[in-house]
Formats: sequence, C-alpha cells, structure tokens
Amino acid sequence: MTDFGRTTLPYCSFVRPGDDRACVGVGIGTDVLDLTAAAATVVPGRRDLFGGGSLDALLAAGPQVWHEVRLALATHVERDDAALAEHLLPGGDVELLLPFAVADYVDFYASEHHATTVGRIFRPDGEALPPSWKHLPIGYHGRAGTVVVSGTPVRRPSGQTRAADGTVGFGPTARLDLEAEIGFVVGAASTPGEPVPISAFDQHVFGICVVNDWSARDIQAWEYVPLGPFLGKSFATSVSPWIVPLAALEHARVSPPPRDPEPLPYLRDEQPWGLDLELVVTIEGTVVSRAPFSSVYWTAAQMLAHLTVNGASLRTGDLYASGTVSGPEAGQRGSLLELSWNGAEPVTLDDGSTRTFLRDGDHVCIAATARLADGTHIELGQVDGQVIA
Ligand code: CA
Repeated sequence: MTDFGRTTLPYCSFVRPGDDRACVGVGIGTDVLDLTAAAATVVPGRRDLFGGGSLDALLAAGPQVWHEVRLALATHVERDDAALAEHLLPGGDVELLLPFAVADYVDFYASEHHATTVGRIFRPDGEALPPSWKHLPIGYHGRAGTVVVSGTPVRRPSGQTRAADGTVGFGPTARLDLEAEIGFVVGAASTPGEPVPISAFDQHVFGICVVNDWSARDIQAWEYVPLGPFLGKSFATSVSPWIVPLAALEHARVSPPPRDPEPLPYLRDEQPWGLDLELVVTIEGTVVSRAPFSSVYWTAAQMLAHLTVNGASLRTGDLYASGTVSGPEAGQRGSLLELSWNGAEPVTLDDGSTRTFLRDGDHVCIAATARLADGTHIELGQVDGQVIA
C-alpha cells in the first residue's frame, strides 16, 4: 500500500475480506479510514454521501461539499482523533474497487514530446505534429465500460492487422503496449449547451488518478486512419484505485510550457494548471521510464474547456486522460512504442531479458508522485496490471 502521508487524503472504494459491502475509504499513511462508518463522527451532516460505498454521491455533491468534507477530515486527522482509530484498517487488509462509476471516457494527446516522437517514428519525412496540434488539445471519446481498476488482469486482445507484405490477418496483437497517463475525474455535472470555461476547472473536476491506457499498436496502425483509435485501445484502460483531490495538489501547480502560437481566447489561461508530477513506469520490476507531467503542453483545464466548447455537457463520473506523458529525454518516454522506437531498439530489463512490446505474464506498474512547492513529495498511488494470454 502506498504511504499517502496525513495531508493528501485520497479517496477509494473498498471491501473487507469476506464481505461484499463496499465502503468509501480515505488513505491516511498506509491505513484506510472507513469513511462510510466514520462519517457519523467526521461529517455527521453528510453521512448519506458515503452509504453507497463508491465516490459517486460525493462527486455529484460539488465543490462546496468536497471542501467541507476534506476540511472535516483534515481537522480530525490533525488532532489524531481517537474516534477515527476504530475505523482505521491496514491498507493491505482490504480489496480496492473501481472507485466511481465511469460515465464517459475521453483520452487526449496533450504531450508535445509524445506526439512529436510518435510523429517522427511514423512520419520521418513529414511534419511530426498534425497542423491543429498547437491550436487545440486533440482527443477522442473512448470506451467507459472497459475502464478497470488497478490489479485487474488484461487479456491480450485479438484483431485485424496488416503484415509488412500487405497481407491482412487476424490474431492476438504482437505489439501490446502501455501508456502512462494522468486521469481527471469529473464530479459536478455541467449544463448542456454551456461550455465550461478554464476558470471553472476546479468547480467541476474533483481529482486525479493514474492511468494505463493499454494499446495494441498493430491493430491501431491498421484501423486508425482516418477516424482515430478504435479497437486498438478499447479493450482495457486501467486506473489507480485512489482519487487524489485537486485540493491536495494546490502546491504542485507550476507553469506549463510556453504556448506558441497563443491559443484562441477560450484556451488562454490566466492561472495555469500545470502540475509537477512524475510517472514512474515499471515492467517486471525494472524502471523503464520516469515521465515528467510538467512538460505536458496542454493543461487539464484547457482540455476541459476544449472538451465542452461545443456545448457538450459533463456528467458526474466522466473521466478524461492526458494522453501518454513523455518528457524530452529518452528515459522519460511513457510508452514502449517510443522507448523501443517502434520495436527497433529493445529495452533491456534488470533480469537481462529484452522487450520491444509486452509479453504475456508481464507486470506493468505506473506510480505517480507530486513535488510540492516546498520541495517535498507526496505519493499519488499506482496502477498495476498483468498481461494474460
Ligand atoms: Ca492514450
């Protein structure tokens, strides 16, 4: 279990062994506070929000209530309230569940280093970035129903692919990949027809999670022109079980990279939401990448403004992800596609074995931390998954 310290206060949904009743939990150190049980003491006026066992009711309640509950939790934790002790469980003793019902899932392509490297791999003689890339955060709507919680095994998908000689066939993907991303969880819904401006980002987005957007590169390469990813992505997207409130990241905010050209007015940010996060990608225990989220070109607030600028409304439980996070250095790339240069440069693991793409049995872990303004770090949890045949 991640050590969350005593001030981050991330939320989860969990069950005790042998019990099938889900509870809402809060991470305190390496323990889980059963907030469904403790709510009568901590937030007696809001205990109804936690009876359902998932974060759904809390997410829907909106920013004033999020603040009220967090403040009450922080106050009780700070004074080491004895009333909490009876509701604390060791983190290793519980099973963590998908923490909220995922409504819509959107995935962006917001890292310039990722988009540029992918462009160089696939279009070595052309423009690395599509012409719209620096004018809008590119994204697509994915499959919400296949978002799974960390720990869920991921079955190698099958699909159509085209071999180098042009033969079209069907079979298990030979190019299964990971994508290290940060996910943003929408709490408060918005009104149909009314765009959500950048300034309202924290009135709608509750918090963040760590995402592994599994990708089958051979299926993707054959199907994605002209409409973008489909079956090469939709088989599974894994999320960390802990949702870290945006409020815990206030001191991790940094300026994003300079934007050139200046975007249209609806994408201009006066108080930008760059975040100083690091994603550490591990395959079979070997760290293969340390990707800096602060290098991502478009912020989550810009993504939300763009996502809704046509009047498309938000629902409680909407999840949108940043797209693969890659930094400027070779060891900062957030996918095997980039790390192995599309299979040309295998990655060597600590046991001496090599990977171009994932093998059956591989354990993939993506863990995230945030660096705060005072130089300290907080843990944001991790997303794990094993590839099965
Ligand atoms: Ca992705």
